[in-house]
Amino acid sequence: GRSMSLTNLDGGFLIRLKDVTTRKNIEDEKDEFLSVISHELRTPLAAIEGTISNAQLIAQKMDLSKSRLDTILNSAHSQTLYLSQIVHDLSELSRIDTNSKNILEEFNLKEVLEGIYSSYQEKADQKDIQFNLDIPPKIKLANSNKLYVQELTQNLVENAIKYTKEGSVTLGAKIKNGQINIFVKDTGIGINKSDIGKIFNKFYRSEDYRTRETNGTGLGLYISSKLARKIDSYINVKSRINQGSEFSFNINEDRQ
Ligand code: ADP
Repeated sequence: GRSMSLTNLDGGFLIRLKDVTTRKNIEDEKDEFLSVISHELRTPLAAIEGTISNAQLIAQKMDLSKSRLDTILNSAHSQTLYLSQIVHDLSELSRIDTNSKNILEEFNLKEVLEGIYSSYQEKADQKDIQFNLDIPPKIKLANSNKLYVQELTQNLVENAIKYTKEGSVTLGAKIKNGQINIFVKDTGIGINKSDIGKIFNKFYRSEDYRTRETNGTGLGLYISSKLARKIDSYINVKSRINQGSEFSFNINEDRQ
């Protein structure tokens, strides 16, 4: 399960959530996962199949106007993109599951964060969101897994930009209780109390219409929480609906 605590903050809510889920039996987890995946893949596949077979029928009757054809193709195309995003996410997941031994290494965290910052700058610019990088100069080397920290942080930045309509997104790190705290803070749509316990579930997406306006598989945070667990960490969330969210996790400093 997860541990949650609620604090009332001048009318708003501050919710802290720690992912402390214990490991289920691996076989059970795999079986359950396969059944969820096949269910999730069936819906977009059926939609593509339906759209294309509809186009075939209309084409046989020879009354396929150009705009009707455009609509049908666009719909089949976006369903296909969604499917390929799911397949991409799944391959990321299976990679996490297979690479498990000896993952700790020393790496330059500042460089990793700067890399993510520059690769998301354009996406933020396109949405007119101010994108900040907040790393104190003394943070340099970390002892964790570079790839996992990178993918995890990237997922959080991607979401922060996706779920923010105006204002800013800040990617940063700070030293806290002898560890490095990596955080991604946004002034976006925020997450309501009933969703916050569910956002780490596989394929979970909020019913909020602003979430539904965006594309997503609902796998990003599920993958991120798995990545965090691999590096003996967990993701902490603080969010207030309509105000913004902050996702963070801790990793070890390299002490040499
Ligand atoms: P996806 O973004 O593909 O829907 P995720 O697993 O990454 O899937 O996120 C799950 C849900 O959590 C999202 O659908 C959204 O409702 C919510 N969420 C995640 N990050 C944020 C954020 N920074 N601000 C607001 N809501 C968020």
